[in-house]
Amino acid sequence: MSIKTNLLKIKSQLPNHVTLVAVSKTKPVSDLMEAYDAGQRIFGENKIQEMVDKHEQMPKDIQWHMIGHVQTNKVKYMAEFVDLIHGVDSLKLLKEINKQAQKHNRIIKCLLQIKIAKEDSKFGLSNNDALDVLISDDFIDLKHIKVVGLMGMATFTENMKQIKDEFINLKTTFDILKTHNKDLKIISMGMSGDYQLAIDCGSTMVRVGSSIFGARNYN
Ligand SMILES: *Cc1c(COP(=O)(O)O)cnc(C)c1O
Repeated sequence: MSIKTNLLKIKSQLPNHVTLVAVSKTKPVSDLMEAYDAGQRIFGENKIQEMVDKHEQMPKDIQWHMIGHVQTNKVKYMAEFVDLIHGVDSLKLLKEINKQAQKHNRIIKCLLQIKIAKEDSKFGLSNNDALDVLISDDFIDLKHIKVVGLMGMATFTENMKQIKDEFINLKTTFDILKTHNKDLKIISMGMSGDYQLAIDCGSTMVRVGSSIFGARNYN
């Protein structure tokens, strides 16, 4: 099936309040352009350099989302254009994003990544640490970032019950944190294998890669 067919099929399944991020990591610009020509304008990448290269080559009405883990020293390369950073997991990183955004006179939107998976390998803040960030004086001083929601990655497992529990945890955390910060609107959860379940659990933004572009080849 073509990228266009895959994309249109997935879009037809999404409720209106759910935003689709087309995760295009490792894929060539020609593949992204197929999705672009089919109407897709939001693309997600997990490596800053790759996103910068694609941004340079592609139309300027694309919204670029950084969905991977962000190293503080690389924020400067994307600060001029990145639309939303999903994986923010510390106040230190928020401060750096704020500093770089200020240089470009921008306000960069961010999601706090919450650790919902049982695995050690997944990054993210605990619920309490996320709350501490949002209510800290340092955070309130940051005028060039805006935390607009939360992001989570479920455990890599076939066990749908476990994935569902983790998604429900993120939704619960969102509902609690929202009482402290009214800017929180987005819950980024759900990928190719579980986006329907994620939407049932309250997701408002799904990050779908292989179901649109096909399996990735990392060689
Ligand atoms: C790669 C990736 C996705 C997309 O995964 P698929 O299973 O290909 O849909 C979603 N979110 C993050 C953070 C990713 O790194």
